[in-house]
Order: sequence, then C-alpha cells, then structure tokens
Amino acid sequence: MTKPYKLSALSGKVIAIDGPAGSGKSTTAKLLALRMGYVYLDTGAMYRAITLYALRNNVALNDAQVLTDAANKILIRFQAESSGNKVYLNDEDVTLAIRSQEVTASVSEVSAHPGVREAMVRQQRQIAKSGNIVAEGRDTTSVVFPKADIKIYLDASLKERARRRLLDFVRMNVDSSLDEQIHELTHRDAFDSNRKHSPLAKTGDSIVIDTTNLSVEEQVERIIKLVKTRFMQV
Ligand code: C5P
Repeated sequence: MTKPYKLSALSGKVIAIDGPAGSGKSTTAKLLALRMGYVYLDTGAMYRAITLYALRNNVALNDAQVLTDAANKILIRFQAESSGNKVYLNDEDVTLAIRSQEVTASVSEVSAHPGVREAMVRQQRQIAKSGNIVAEGRDTTSVVFPKADIKIYLDASLKERARRRLLDFVRMNVDSSLDEQIHELTHRDAFDSNRKHSPLAKTGDSIVIDTTNLSVEEQVERIIKLVKTRFMQV
C-alpha cells in the first residue's frame, strides 16, 4: 500500500497536472515550471526509464516481482538544463532513449504493476521535498499529491493528441503516421484508464482544461492566471 501523504512532509507548493498522452501536459508543465521557477517533475519519464531498463535486460513485462525489485534499486534523477530536463537512469543519460517507440509501446504494461508504482511514488515524493514543483502524469492529482495546491486535468481530442504525437516523432526523425498514433494512443489510454492501481482519472477537485484549440502559450497563460488567483487567496 502506498503510504498516505503528509502535507507537512513537503516544503513547497505543488501544482499537479494529469491527463492522457498528448493532452499538452509535458509542454505546459515544463514552461510553467520555467516561468515560475519551480522544479519540473515528469513522472511519465520515470515509468519510461524503468521500462527501458526492463527491455534492455530482457525482463518480461509481466514479471511483477523482478520489475518491482528493479524499481526499488534503480535511481532516476532529473537534471534541469536550458533545453529541458535531462533524465538519468542510475548514472546514464537516457533522455532520448526513453522516448523510443519500443519504450512507448511497453510502458503502460510496466507502469500497471503496483510494486513498480509504489517505488516510483516514493521517489516522486522525495523529489518534491526539494521545493516548489510542477508535477505531471496520470496519478499526480489523485495518488501522488492528493493535497496538491492546484490540480489540473488537461484533455484534448484524440485526433489532436495524435497530431501532436506525430509532430514529436517527425522532430525526432522517426517514421510514423496519424493512424499509427491514433492506434497507439487509443491502446495506451485504455490501458492507463482501466488498470486496477492508480488509473488515470479526473479528481473532483481538478480544474479541467481542454487544450484541443489552445496554443501552448494560451495553455500556460491560463494556468498561470489560475495559480496567481489561487495563491493570492491563501
Ligand atoms: O506521460 P508519458 O506519456 O511519458 O507517460 C508514459 C506512460 O507512463 C503512461 O502511458 C502511463 O502508462 C505511465 N504513467 C503512469 N503514471 C504516471 C505517469 C505516467 O502510469 N503518473
């Protein structure tokens, strides 16, 4: 069981953003953190790092015990750079490797294991002790930081999310198509939303923002406005 979260254990403010893949979480959270001087915590990158470890070491994706042991041993850390966060798996820079199609196709299965999630949540809360953070993922508003100062749920139409994902692949020089992305997102959404432990879900106290027709700048501005209003009320 993931231990209950104590507000007193954290020193700073927490802005938690959840939503499905391609909803704009990463871009928004990254920019928001930069503008506010907060630490950006990309929880999806952590599940991707464990998945990369599993693929490289030929660990079966359904081997809960070996994956849980690995998740408890592995140290994932982020290093803020002007170009964005670098992700380290133990001491190796895996920033690019964790974005491969192979990792993307396998990560939902790995992240569904409760033991893996507990180990990751522990590390995520540890990172949050370092100061003010913007966390994003699938369960940051519900399980990791249920008492976050601000909770946001980002969403967008499937087609728009697939278009954004395709653009990411084009930038990485990887061949793909809109249909392939629609297929991959549909599969991952279903897996992430229907799993037993910490599924992707909208909490009752999350503010929902549909980003389908919003530019990145508009998404960030909307959240900054919210943050200012909310933090000024405290
Ligand atoms: O956000 P990103 O697409 O990088 O997340 C990759 C995968 O990691 C998700 O599809 C989901 O399976 C898993 N994940 C999760 N809980 C989080 C963040 C990501 O299960 N908080």
